[in-house]
Parts: sequence; C-alpha cells; structure tokens
Amino acid sequence: TIGMLAIDRKGDISGACTTSGMAYKIAGRVGDSPIIGAGLFIDNEVGGATATGVGEEVVRTVGSFLIVELMRQGKSPQEACEIAVKRIVAKNPGYRDFQVGFIALNKKGETGGYCIQPGFSYRTYSEEGHSLTPAGSYIN
Ligand code: ASP
Repeated sequence: TIGMLAIDRKGDISGACTTSGMAYKIAGRVGDSPIIGAGLFIDNEVGGATATGVGEEVVRTVGSFLIVELMRQGKSPQEACEIAVKRIVAKNPGYRDFQVGFIALNKKGETGGYCIQPGFSYRTYSEEGHSLTPAGSYIN
C-alpha cells in the first residue's frame, strides 16, 4: 500500500491510498484500501489516517476512522496510531506474525506512525525539506 496524507497552507487535509492487495489473495477479495474508514479516512475538522498491511484486520477495527476519532478526542497522531495497532494486536492473541501499520496527520500538521512489526517508516515533505521517520513498532 502507498498511503498519503497532506495538509495545505489553509490547513485543509486530504489523503489517498493505493494498493495491489495481498499476495495469493482470493479472487474478488476487497481489502481495506478502497474502503473509506478502513484503509483511509479524512475528517477535515480533525485530521486523517491511512493504513498498510493485512487489510482484514484494518477493516475489522475500522482502523483509520478509529485513529481520526481518537485524535478528535485529543490524542496525538502518534498516540492514536499506537492505540489502533494495539487494538489489532489484542484481537489476535498469540498471533504476531503479520503486519499492520498506520500513519496519521492532524490539523496542526503533527504526524505519527506505528506498526506491529519493525521496519516501517514514513516520509514527511514540507517547504523546509523532507525527512524519513522510523515508525515505532509493537514488536521491537
Ligand atoms: N492493505 C492492503 C490489503 O489488505 C495490502 C497492502 O498493504 O498493500 O489489501
């Protein structure tokens, strides 16, 4: 998946999400990426979030919507991503051999990212330049 979140000079937020789906997927499978609320969600009053990884788990938790709602309640993008990942981990007791990751952006332009497995990072671009941020992970 490639997920993108953007904020313009006026503070308006937008996002996009594209995927080729999972390897060996069943014909007709619909992952999380095309489902608004699961693989991508934007509320211009709050912020946005997008997901990568095993889409079934993201759909089950309506993960991107969950993150935006957590930010609405005052969580930072980083805190919200961590809560969403931990909810997915909690719903799969004893099973850790899969990846789900989220990135999020709020109206202040703050970003966050978190995933289950290590090795996930996200890049931020602005007029000042760009940088690669390693996302924290549940498993280190
Ligand atoms: N989230 C996608 C899906 O489940 C897979 C990916 O990360 O590309 O279809």
